[in-house]
Amino acid sequence: MTTSSNRVVSLYIHFPFCIKKCAYCAFFSEPCKDEELKDEYEKAVMKRIRSLPELSIKTVYFGGGTPTVMETRRLNAILGSVFEHCDVQSGAEITLEANPGTVDAEDLRELSAGGFNRLSLGMQSANDKTLKMLGRIHDNAQFLECCSNAEKYFDNISVDAIFALPGDDFKNTIRQIEFISPAHVSAYSLMLEEGTPLYANKEKYVFPSEAEEESQYEALCDSMRLHGYRHYEISSFAMPGKESAHNSVYWRRGEYIGIGPAAHSFYMGRRFSVPANTREFIKRSGSLFLTDTDYQATVPLNAEETEEERIMLGLRLADGVRLSGEKLDIAAKFAANGYGSIYGDIFALNEKGFRVSNAIISELI
Ligand code: SF4
Repeated sequence: MTTSSNRVVSLYIHFPFCIKKCAYCAFFSEPCKDEELKDEYEKAVMKRIRSLPELSIKTVYFGGGTPTVMETRRLNAILGSVFEHCDVQSGAEITLEANPGTVDAEDLRELSAGGFNRLSLGMQSANDKTLKMLGRIHDNAQFLECCSNAEKYFDNISVDAIFALPGDDFKNTIRQIEFISPAHVSAYSLMLEEGTPLYANKEKYVFPSEAEEESQYEALCDSMRLHGYRHYEISSFAMPGKESAHNSVYWRRGEYIGIGPAAHSFYMGRRFSVPANTREFIKRSGSLFLTDTDYQATVPLNAEETEEERIMLGLRLADGVRLSGEKLDIAAKFAANGYGSIYGDIFALNEKGFRVSNAIISELI
């Protein structure tokens, strides 16, 4: 029986499958065409959902990997079990990550009917040559088709883009974002991760200089501002009211539970994660929530770690973070040099500050 006094959390469900690995990807996912494995995974996730304590669910996020590698009927069945077992708050944001090339118009219609109300689409670049270099499975025409199908069923679409890519004309990507005008945009600079094919072949490419990377970020920020988006988080832009409620829980240190291999949780003052092993996750899915080794429990964060985390996460947000004493004095100097503003005891970075946020954060923690 769920009641209004249930603990409020967000729910993240990880799908560790992709069609094939992208050249730059270090996320926990593997290519999967095995229907039996998908079947077992679906059942394991549903078992885990049923083992959750009574909770009030603020937001739900299906991420990966590529959740849409699972057939639509499986995704709807899993979301159905969330509705059945948990008290999902009315109007809760329910996001599905989807990649062009994995969903057609009928899938999108069914997913919307199944209860998903926000779609996060991986565009990454508007340039076919770049998409190929990144090892993406889609080309730009497929992205545009997927986007126009999605617009029929979703009024809350987020688009992901990557800048600082070798040999890429990021201006085209910006123009395309302006053209499709999604409710939300997330943009990240390319992270060259050890162990990925892109890293192994890095000598073959000419990567943009730091100044070029900065000017791409600046061009995106300018375009977003001009088109009415709020730059509410270092990498995120939203039309009014379309900020990501789920990601805001992460940045504001709200509680969330992660289901699936490599999924992270922050619950009752502890941060912990599920081991990154899909078969182990399936094997252990029958155990009770938090009573077995399914989750690698860590000790609760101490006061110092909590404070560092609060500052690091808070400074990602345009709303800023509350500071006091010496830290507020240091922040005032950054503000005086044009990197942000002080409102009472709150320090908020501006776009110039976001660009050097790592250096500013390290001065403050
Ligand atoms: S689709 Fe996403 S998760 Fe899958 S390999 Fe590519 S970048 Fe990684």
